[in-house]
Amino acid sequence: MSRQMIVGNWKMNGTRQAAQALVASLVDRLPQGSADVVICPPFTQLAPVADKLAASPIGLGAQDCHQAVSGAYTGDVSAAMLADLGVGHVILGHSERRQGHAELDETVREKAVAAIRAGLVPVICIGETAEQRDAGQHEDVLGWQIEGSLPEGFGGVVAYEPIWAIGSGRAATEEQIAQTMAFLRAELIRQFGETGKAVKILYGGSVNAGNAPSILSIPEVAGALVGGASLDADAFLSIVGAA
Ligand code: PGA
Repeated sequence: MSRQMIVGNWKMNGTRQAAQALVASLVDRLPQGSADVVICPPFTQLAPVADKLAASPIGLGAQDCHQAVSGAYTGDVSAAMLADLGVGHVILGHSERRQGHAELDETVREKAVAAIRAGLVPVICIGETAEQRDAGQHEDVLGWQIEGSLPEGFGGVVAYEPIWAIGSGRAATEEQIAQTMAFLRAELIRQFGETGKAVKILYGGSVNAGNAPSILSIPEVAGALVGGASLDADAFLSIVGAA
């Protein structure tokens, strides 16, 4: 199996001072030969964090981008602008954006196309609600999200994040993760053929230092997308150490 990938999603957290302190700690303490690590600060901290990461193997990611290259889109940031700052990855279609900003699968796909064109690796998030899982509809929902959100021939990263597991302290069980990962791999191959084999699938949703070792040892789990625990250097580094 290739190296696992741990992505830290800071969400809307991080003043200049806090971001600098957290990054300094990660840069100093990242173990040699660790998993691939990408941190995704808010837009306002990307440039200063990029400077701090210049000589570090830690990669820089953003939490969203617009699908256009430039133009009259007040408040938006394009993939090309991110690439210009040294950003290498971009989280797209996070459930908080799908819900809070009414992002549709189609928008997510357009953003992914723009990101790839700008040389970024998209980390496309998919996941079902609690109601959908309880009703046994999660596989249908995930299949549709893959179909709608991933561009043709997609070779990037998918993050499976059950919405009920995000920020709830209640990660999916190992059995749920294993079953869903197997479903997702089969679905990616069904929809995309050979290229579906190359897509990395991360798990996200209440990953912490305690549950990371067991989650990261589940077959098909290529790494984790970590929210809350990525704001704490000790917790994040122990998740990295578990990969
Ligand atoms: P969490 O968030 O780790 O705080 O559950 C994960 C995410 O939303 O990416």
